[in-house]
Amino acid sequence: MSAQIPGRSNAHRVPRILVIDPNEWMHRHLRARLQLEHVEIHAATRGEQGLQLALELLPDVILLETDFGSEERMDGFEILQRLKEDARTKDIAVIFVSESQETMDRVRGLDLGAVDFVQKPFEMAELKARVRTALRMQSLVRILAQSAQIDGLTALWNRTCFDQRLAAETSEARRHGRNLSLIMCDIDHFKSVNDRYGHPFGDEVLAHFATILTSGRASDVACRYGGEEFGIILPGTTATEAAEVAERFRAEFEAHRWRRQPDLVLTASFGVAEFSALEFAMGPVELLRRADEALYHAKRSGRNRVSCGPRADSEAA
Ligand code: GH3
Ligand code: MG
Ligand code: MG
Repeated sequence: MSAQIPGRSNAHRVPRILVIDPNEWMHRHLRARLQLEHVEIHAATRGEQGLQLALELLPDVILLETDFGSEERMDGFEILQRLKEDARTKDIAVIFVSESQETMDRVRGLDLGAVDFVQKPFEMAELKARVRTALRMQSLVRILAQSAQIDGLTALWNRTCFDQRLAAETSEARRHGRNLSLIMCDIDHFKSVNDRYGHPFGDEVLAHFATILTSGRASDVACRYGGEEFGIILPGTTATEAAEVAERFRAEFEAHRWRRQPDLVLTASFGVAEFSALEFAMGPVELLRRADEALYHAKRSGRNRVSCGPRADSEAA
């Protein structure tokens, strides 16, 4: 699988903690007591500043007071709500560290999505243990989220991830005027491979095809779209370049000799489409439709070939 991981890649850095508390004494206290803990500490006294830092730093844990005084527009609950509303900050673990002794405040905080509620004054050992637990949970959630996006047989990104990435990449391409291409491909007569050589061999073929599809640039995103159909999103790539990439994949797959079936030649068909920022209707759905149409054209014209866009065709075989 290629190296790119969607979303935040903070698994290997020093854990980052953001303290949002109106009391600066609290910042100094936590800095002093956590300085040997191998964590990075940042602090904000006000809600807006805290939200801004949360976006910039993407901390692993936020320690948040509930009460910011009557002059402040936002209290801790509202800050938490704002964090949860933003896709970029919604997964950060928030622990309330609060003066409040009200049961209803605890309930409200946890209901809003805080992972824990610690009452001031607190024992430092207890707070450290709760932060450690939150950090452990964060890394488990990250691993789970990642494995839910990976196809078990081929270790490529799955359909869910493909849809998300295609939407994200088309809007990036539009915003920054960057090139973007999509390759859709499908193994030829795969049903008869299963029928003649058995499903386990079919699975081996799929896994091998996947390794060919990940041999491109690190920024390319290869996905299993479903069954024996695959999609490769190529940011910063024109249709002409993408067709060359597809042709390399096609030739490599055709040239492969199968250890268990040395005389067998397998092939695949490829459809290429390019994103065009000039076209109003162009988005992930339209880009996929065009790549599918090109793939269908490649199949109809005899398979084992690369077909490009709705107009300019560059057929390989
Ligand atoms: P075409 O050249 O038109 O693409 O023909 P095809 O036979 O490849 O296409 P069709 O869609 O008829 O068959 C796809 C086959 O892929 C049918 C299905 O059993 C098989 N398949 C889908 N997923 C898997 C899988 O995970 N493992 C195996 N071994 N086979 C799979
Ligand atoms: Mg097929
Ligand atoms: Mg198919």
